[in-house]
Amino acid sequence: MADEVPPPSTLPYPPLHLDKKFVALSDWDGTITNRDSNDYLTDHLGFGLEKRRNGNLEILSGRATFRDAFREMLESVVKNGHSFEECAEVLKQNISLDVGFKNFYDFCKANDIPVVIISSGMAPLIRAVLSKLIGDEEAKNIEIIANDTIIHEDGTWEIKYRHPSSGYGHDKSQSILPYRRLPNPPTVFFFGDGVSDMSAARHADLLFVKQKPGADNDLAAFCTREGIPHVLFEDFDRALGLIKKVVEGEVSVGEAVKVGRA
Ligand SMILES: [Mg+2]
Repeated sequence: MADEVPPPSTLPYPPLHLDKKFVALSDWDGTITNRDSNDYLTDHLGFGLEKRRNGNLEILSGRATFRDAFREMLESVVKNGHSFEECAEVLKQNISLDVGFKNFYDFCKANDIPVVIISSGMAPLIRAVLSKLIGDEEAKNIEIIANDTIIHEDGTWEIKYRHPSSGYGHDKSQSILPYRRLPNPPTVFFFGDGVSDMSAARHADLLFVKQKPGADNDLAAFCTREGIPHVLFEDFDRALGLIKKVVEGEVSVGEAVKVGRA
């Protein structure tokens, strides 16, 4: 599907990073952060963990689209009377970064590897949490390709999907495929953990799938079921060990995938 006609985007894209050897694209929720912020909102302020988890499994099995199931999760938060500002505050208090992300980010900066956040969450919430975690200045420099939020005059809010015609809501492959069409394409790393990354999984040159004890690990289940080559990683420090070897030419992308776990 993603290779055919791209879904029209309601939101702009930043320019592609041209003439880079490597580009790092990463999911935000549960990948760069330790827990998924939208799951957190749904579990604590919306219709609760059981119904949310059921929604994730419906997406994983293909019985529901991410777009529709995720919208319902967020609507349950709004129906319980929680404003967008309140949600941002709750997340700032409860969401933390992956233990190795800062090291990974510093390595990428030092090695001319752009890092772009590719999220099915809402950009204003990501910015708010990122600023709290790494400071306003650094947060401003990180590009985010995500969905957006519409805040109504009565204080209610809703998600604005980047690709409303796609069942993914935000088809993450659309952040990878344009790199493939460049005359001098970079090696694209993609990092993800959950159902929101299913649209990207087949398209990265090197896919890193986060697998944490006690977490849902839906992307790992999806990739195993679909036979999509990937490298499992528990945190960015682990991933960085392998990334360094690939960047330094010690290990090829093909060899890295065969390693299977960073
Ligand atoms: Mg995620």
